[in-house]
Amino acid sequence: MALSSITPTTHYLDLKYLGAEHLIAVGVLESDDGLILVDPGPMSSLETLRETLEEAGYALADVRALLLTHIHLDHAGATGTIVQDHPDVAVYVHRLGATHLADPSKLLASARRLYGDMLEPLWGEVIPVPEDALHVLYGDETITVGGRPFDVAYTPGHAVHHVSYLDRESDTAFIGDTAGMRIAGTDVILPVTPPPDVDLDRWPDSLDALRNWSPERLFTTHFGPHDDPAWHLDAFERTLDAWSDAVRNALEQEDDEADDAERAEAFHAAKIQELKQRLSPELVPAYDQFGQPQASWRGLARYWRKQSDRASP
Ligand SMILES: [Zn+2]
Repeated sequence: MALSSITPTTHYLDLKYLGAEHLIAVGVLESDDGLILVDPGPMSSLETLRETLEEAGYALADVRALLLTHIHLDHAGATGTIVQDHPDVAVYVHRLGATHLADPSKLLASARRLYGDMLEPLWGEVIPVPEDALHVLYGDETITVGGRPFDVAYTPGHAVHHVSYLDRESDTAFIGDTAGMRIAGTDVILPVTPPPDVDLDRWPDSLDALRNWSPERLFTTHFGPHDDPAWHLDAFERTLDAWSDAVRNALEQEDDEADDAERAEAFHAAKIQELKQRLSPELVPAYDQFGQPQASWRGLARYWRKQSDRASP
């Protein structure tokens, strides 16, 4: 089956990113006007997106709107190319992300710091999105796309420009990376907190915004639907707190012995070891590759250092 179905009009597909399953899920929603995609994914997976839609009897030309949770390349890198090929596609994005879609130079510079020469092989080319395709969101509105209503919430924490969408028709909250990575069918949630935007002050409010929706299910981009939103959000918050404490403690014991790279690697190794106890072996690499505890360590360290810079001017 090309598409997995949540309801008769609410589906998702696996981009099989770089040949691996369970890494990036794209929401595929039917509307009166055509398809709505939630987070179309990176440019390097655009061919898979095209082929998978075709296997399901659709085409990219059927897409009317892209709902972006945030603009990181694994969620939204293909947006510019899709709009170039299909200029009528409407792109919904938070106002703080919109400028970087119109001019991706800063976004790419930031990604280049993380990925170096691997940027293009991993994510492909990123081209600007024409401004007249952009529908700017503030995070407190309801939008109706092809007759299908969505409540929008501003959900910073993972990224400063992150929004989540409650699809009222299926009562599914599409939450991007607001509450971590969890492969559907497992109970393993990894916070995803890479540099540079991690915001632990505002993250709890983002989780409360999702709780207030009390949706029937959550949908995480990495990966898929989860039918226990209350449990998921509480478990995520506990894990995020534990990780952030662990990183802060490590920083308080600053010494010359261990540099950031070593501490991040040690943290990563410990987390992967824990996962091996809790997951079937074929799922561990996905969490390793996309959960990236190492990058999360760095994102949390950056957050805590900014806090202490603020405290001691
Ligand atoms: Zn992200």
